[in-house]
Amino acid sequence: MNVPSFSSAAALSPSTLAFLARQHGHFIGGRWVHPTDGALIDIHDPATGERIAGCAAGGAAEIDAAVRAARAAFEGPWSRFTAAQRSAVLWKIADLVQQNFQQLCELEILDNGLPTPLAQYVCGMVVPDFFRYYAGWPTKIEGATIPAAPQGKLPGEALSFTLREPIGVVGAITPWNSPLPMVMLKIAPALATGCTLVLKPAELTPLTAMRLAELCQEAGVPDGVINIVNGYGEDAGAALAAHPGVDKIAFTGSTEVGRLIVKAAAGNLKKVTLELGGKSPVVVFPDADLEQVIPGAARACFFLQGQNCMAGTRLFVHEKIHDKVVEGVAAVARAMKIGPGLDPSSEFGPLISAEQRNRVAGFVDAGRKEGAEVVCGGNAPTRPGYFFEPTVLARTRNDMTPVKSEIFGPVLCVQTFGDDDLDSVARAANSTIYGLSGSVWTRDLGTAMKMVRKIDSGQVSVNMHAAIDPAMPFGGNKQSGWGREFGKEGLEPYLKTKGISMTW
Ligand code: NAP
Ligand code: MG
Repeated sequence: MNVPSFSSAAALSPSTLAFLARQHGHFIGGRWVHPTDGALIDIHDPATGERIAGCAAGGAAEIDAAVRAARAAFEGPWSRFTAAQRSAVLWKIADLVQQNFQQLCELEILDNGLPTPLAQYVCGMVVPDFFRYYAGWPTKIEGATIPAAPQGKLPGEALSFTLREPIGVVGAITPWNSPLPMVMLKIAPALATGCTLVLKPAELTPLTAMRLAELCQEAGVPDGVINIVNGYGEDAGAALAAHPGVDKIAFTGSTEVGRLIVKAAAGNLKKVTLELGGKSPVVVFPDADLEQVIPGAARACFFLQGQNCMAGTRLFVHEKIHDKVVEGVAAVARAMKIGPGLDPSSEFGPLISAEQRNRVAGFVDAGRKEGAEVVCGGNAPTRPGYFFEPTVLARTRNDMTPVKSEIFGPVLCVQTFGDDDLDSVARAANSTIYGLSGSVWTRDLGTAMKMVRKIDSGQVSVNMHAAIDPAMPFGGNKQSGWGREFGKEGLEPYLKTKGISMTW
């Protein structure tokens, strides 16, 4: 093995170094395919900016080969798996994720920059728990018997029932902000329902997706059931979204690209689910417990460096407690230890790329020019990597650029309200094209329940933000998406219903 030339190599285990040093192609039909020509995509460690690996950039030809492999597996070996066997495979994937915990943590941190404790939580709990949750479903997917009277048949002369069948070949396209969980969200329901999958991971973060595909194979997933084509969105992603052999697209990413997916899917009218952007409100009433609110609001925005679709980036605080809350959240932000994810003491990692860091800085500058007050942060620290300080902008208004746009970075925009009319508070909270998450902070159950109904989002939490669990449906209202992932509802888009009537 070559001695790796990047500085974080010293902190990595031998299995991670060995994985990085490999040639990274596409996983098609159960084996790695290495194109002999074509450009490589460089993969960077966002904490240092150094190149750590390269992977192949596939296009229409690789997507076509992967779709064919997925179709053959769907009609062949995978269709002969019983529900109980699919369940066992999903359970085994969870075990293998835990057995490969250290390597997956390191690869996820190198890919995305998240802090070590978060990577450990993701690889040790979130991902295995999710696979185990979906391992319970294959044996419980049931149709219904229907009291129908087809063609005037009397009871006893006919039987009508429904079959729930896998939708077929799924095309999955995922973003970079939480690479392994995003891939898990596509693979687990596909396997639970008996579908096959072609995945195009984010070009910036393909490492854990590739490793997970190998672990799925080791768990007994037949060749061709899970295929990975690496590449750029406009090439591999667009080819997958348009491919006539794909029955459904499961997309997570920006609202802008979501619109392109819908257009591309129109050719064969494939089914589409979309998990898109957000600009979620955190609404704090004057009776709320500030001991909960201050760390909660900071976490809601700065979790994953704000690169989180559920991030609570618009903080609405009642004027009576405004200064206390803003100062408290700013103090939490200032105290966060910024550093590489691989350093276990880091609490706040880098952004994903230089481009993203510059984009975030641009939004902060626009806010400054439009009259927002920078209470803390607002700068990129002078150090290697793509770091940006957690930032609080106070005195913001709905018409300001950083309030209107999904920044996807650590920028909290604070607004105040003095009004006790819940409708007008909810109107302000809802004044965005997005509707993904949101939270209400109060000790008054009446206020909480009224606000829960008034906020137009797929998820609303009370005295917490972005409560995620494998069993809880999650997805967007308005321009935050179509459909739901997680829970029983998350299986629906992977299934189709066949109505059957018989007589004798
Ligand atoms: P993005 O630019 O929309 O990219 C998402 C994926 O789509 C990537 O794999 C990308 O490839 C691919 N893509 C780009 N153009 C495409 C095209 N024309 N056709 C098909 N695929 C294409 O989003 P991102 O910047 O990676 O991620 C951030 C966004 O994801 C934010 O808006 C965030 O809110 C959203 N998100 C939503 C959820 C949710 O559950 N609702 C969860 C996480 C993230 P490349 O990698 O080559 O660009
Ligand atoms: Mg992109």
